[in-house]
Amino acid sequence: MSAFDLRGRTALITGSSRGIGNALAQGLLEAGARVVVHGRSRSAAERAAAELGDKTGGTTWATAFDVTNAAAVEQGVHEIEEVWGTPDILVNNAGIQRRTPFLDFPDADWDDLIATNLTSAFLVGKHVARGMAKRGSGKIINIGSVQSRLARPGIAAYGATKGGIAMLTQGMCADLAGFGIQANALAPGYFATELTAALVADEQFTQWVAGRTPAGRWGRVEDLVGALVFLSSSASDFVNGQVLYVDGGMTAVV
Ligand code: NDP
Repeated sequence: MSAFDLRGRTALITGSSRGIGNALAQGLLEAGARVVVHGRSRSAAERAAAELGDKTGGTTWATAFDVTNAAAVEQGVHEIEEVWGTPDILVNNAGIQRRTPFLDFPDADWDDLIATNLTSAFLVGKHVARGMAKRGSGKIINIGSVQSRLARPGIAAYGATKGGIAMLTQGMCADLAGFGIQANALAPGYFATELTAALVADEQFTQWVAGRTPAGRWGRVEDLVGALVFLSSSASDFVNGQVLYVDGGMTAVV
């Protein structure tokens, strides 16, 4: 199993102060990596980093910057590089959701979604990949969604960002493979987190998720860890530009 061993590797996971990113951080820590825990709120990131360190016995460090702000991203990545060097693994996970029927969708929500879910992966990806390219190795994992491929009413803008993530991933592969970098996307189905709390509480929606997912249930954040460790490790050194759906089979069936 040494191909999956992450001991000695450093990972930056954006938006790991809670939710899916936090579970991904725990998974990489348990596989041996040391992890930079991140969010906009420094206190939340510090609290999460301390909790993850206690839980796993692994090494964590907390940082905070807004992934939509180019100058803040450049400064934030620079600070990480000064402490731990360029990360071996970057997980572009920070993201938001906004729901409104298309005809009334607020322009400001469109801009927020594009900036937080898509521009962020370009900005953080570019600054981290520059160091990875110099070193000649790196793993970039962009978090997509079943909405990278499938639409739902009320979330056209979110779907546009996640479809964009799939093509950004292929573009990163095209530009970065020659530098020894693999860029892939991990695309979760419906997972119970803060982002989906209102949907989980909605009995009708939960019934729809169970019926529409061949596995018959919401995803549990731990369900994502095996795929993430694979994409972060040398086990995936010849896998590049792919979208791996971890969705209980949802995108395989109509
Ligand atoms: P949460 O809302 O639980 O967590 C979002 C994280 O991102 C927090 O750590 C938050 O920290 C951080 N964040 C948000 N905006 C910014 C910003 N501008 N700059 C820096 N950090 C930011 O979301 P989830 O865990 O549910 O979602 C994580 C990812 O998984 C997203 O990309 C989402 O689209 C994707 N996903 C989620 C699914 C689900 O079912 N939940 C399904 C498929 C994909 P802070 O608030 O301090 O900034």
